[in-house]
Amino acid sequence: MLEARELHAAYGRIPVLYGISLAAAPDRFLGIIGRNGVGKTTTLRSIVGLMPLTAGDVRLDGQSIAGRQTHEIARMGVAYVPENRGVFPSLTVLESLTLAARAPTRSGDIWTLERVFDVFPRLAERRANRGDQLSGGEQQMLAIGRALLTNPRLLILDEPTEGLAPLIVLQIRKVLRSLRGSGLTIVIVDQNLETVFDIADHVVLISRGSVVAQGPSATIAGDQSLLNQYLGV
Ligand code: ATP
Repeated sequence: MLEARELHAAYGRIPVLYGISLAAAPDRFLGIIGRNGVGKTTTLRSIVGLMPLTAGDVRLDGQSIAGRQTHEIARMGVAYVPENRGVFPSLTVLESLTLAARAPTRSGDIWTLERVFDVFPRLAERRANRGDQLSGGEQQMLAIGRALLTNPRLLILDEPTEGLAPLIVLQIRKVLRSLRGSGLTIVIVDQNLETVFDIADHVVLISRGSVVAQGPSATIAGDQSLLNQYLGV
């Protein structure tokens, strides 16, 4: 469903991606891991049209989306939850969720406000609170809830558990796991390897703007020398 081919990108004259290729199959979850600054966020931003490519192609269901505007890509069913979560400080939880809701681009499993509140009961409790009154965990739940309400085909998450308390991390992981089999494809970047290995079917390891390994989650998780070499764990 998602295919990135030989992505090259640069900040000014400084190259950051040196030919990243990856693919996510329908209804499968892809994890991207790597040390800080290796190009994970840049890869995601390139896919959603927030970072221009100097070469390469991004395909969604076989159709090239490289060079398209981010809002167009969003309308094609791609939801992106950035690292900073992008929560509007002055809107209430209910306003943010209501504004995000969009008709699905695929059949089946539909996300509604009730369903989001069901999955994240804390958001229901905080529905009248403004974005700037929420904790980090609540903001992340809101960002994910908002993305789900766009009824995407592809959900892209950048560091969804960064800086969150262990209990919230477990809750977010549980919600993401529960999306399995719902027809949604997920691409997740996270520094928390346990989270990635827990959620993803397939994992891509990036180092210095290139893919250095990829494979089934369990295979990568079990390759201690690889993890040691590229992640220092
Ligand atoms: P992190 O986990 O720290 O976000 P990352 O793997 O996601 O790391 P990127 O954020 O994609 O890495 O950054 C890749 C490289 O590009 C880094 O060397 C970073 O310093 C550089 N970089 C990122 N954003 C910019 C920018 N706006 N201008 C210049 N260089 C940047």
